[in-house]
Amino acid sequence: MTLRMIEHPSPNHEPRPEGAVVEVLMLHYTGMRSGPEALARLCDPAAIVSSHYVVEEDGRVFRLVPEALKARHAGISHWRGHSALNATSIGIEIVNPGHEWGYRHFPAMQMAALADLCLEILARHPIPARNVVGHSDVAPDRKQDPGEFFDWQGLAANGIGLWPQRDGPAKGDPLALLGRIGYRTDLPLDVLITAFQRHWRPEEVNGLADAGTLARLQAVAALAEA
Ligand SMILES: [Zn+2]
Repeated sequence: MTLRMIEHPSPNHEPRPEGAVVEVLMLHYTGMRSGPEALARLCDPAAIVSSHYVVEEDGRVFRLVPEALKARHAGISHWRGHSALNATSIGIEIVNPGHEWGYRHFPAMQMAALADLCLEILARHPIPARNVVGHSDVAPDRKQDPGEFFDWQGLAANGIGLWPQRDGPAKGDPLALLGRIGYRTDLPLDVLITAFQRHWRPEEVNGLADAGTLARLQAVAALAEA
């Protein structure tokens, strides 16, 4: 599949800090009623938000900010001991109304285009699989995107991000396991578990460190440290 890239420049960018290396790929949903509405906001100088790319539900890909520049998508964010992740990340906004406006499944055309785009980005930058994250992973107390309908497992099957082949033992300290994966650990456990479940255990997002969640935590932690 060939990406249909549409240039749609946003003024909301800055230089990356001197010497910054792009090592995080961050996925979002737009959380607005329509794609055009989201594009307008991400290009509005008064909104001061942006992303590098927007992927529409029909698979069209819009380029808003060149990868060499810093876009404004992450906000206050933490992963694997790093913070303020706009400086070192590439952000992709995936059109979906989100939990506020009628969360729905991501169409196959959209996911296929997203996978192609991610693979191109991963070929250009030294981004480890454990640093392919959702907004909710890096801001668990503020964000829910891209959410439990997002097919992380399918992306991983295409070589994008981590997904375990089998669960680990259902034991261990959940907070320590979350920290080994990359989550900050100074938030309430149910908030962190909910973020983990949205990404790696979407079949039941309940905020509980139950046996199934512990087993999945162990498996993802092992992969993140491999
Ligand atoms: Zn987001």
